[in-house]
Amino acid sequence: MYRIESNFKVKYEKCLVDLRYVKPTLLRAFVDVVEYCKLHEYPLQVTRVVGEKIKNISVSTSHEEGRAIDISVKGMTEKQINNMVEYFNVKFYNIGAISYSKGVSTFMYYHVGTAKHIHIQIRPNI
Ligand SMILES: [Zn+2]
Repeated sequence: MYRIESNFKVKYEKCLVDLRYVKPTLLRAFVDVVEYCKLHEYPLQVTRVVGEKIKNISVSTSHEEGRAIDISVKGMTEKQINNMVEYFNVKFYNIGAISYSKGVSTFMYYHVGTAKHIHIQIRPNI
């Protein structure tokens, strides 16, 4: 076993493989998410990286284009989730994807549905 520790897990081995196809800008920003979670001692698990658009659920092509990463919210309270989302939407205002519905820059979005998770996304062409 390695003597170094990681606070970053993946739900499926595919997620680890898929991180190679993520846009460098997103990968750089994601490192900040990893560090933020480590600092706050939040579990961090990547649940989806690159993939096909999910029918009736995906509203954008961000996962298909390597512009998105989903992470689990297990082990975090609603307040902790909302604080993190707000922090990163301010920090990465200049790279967050522009949401179709609100027209605002959104780097991190708390998806509350059948499968709660945080969707991390950057705008195209950066
Ligand atoms: Zn997503």
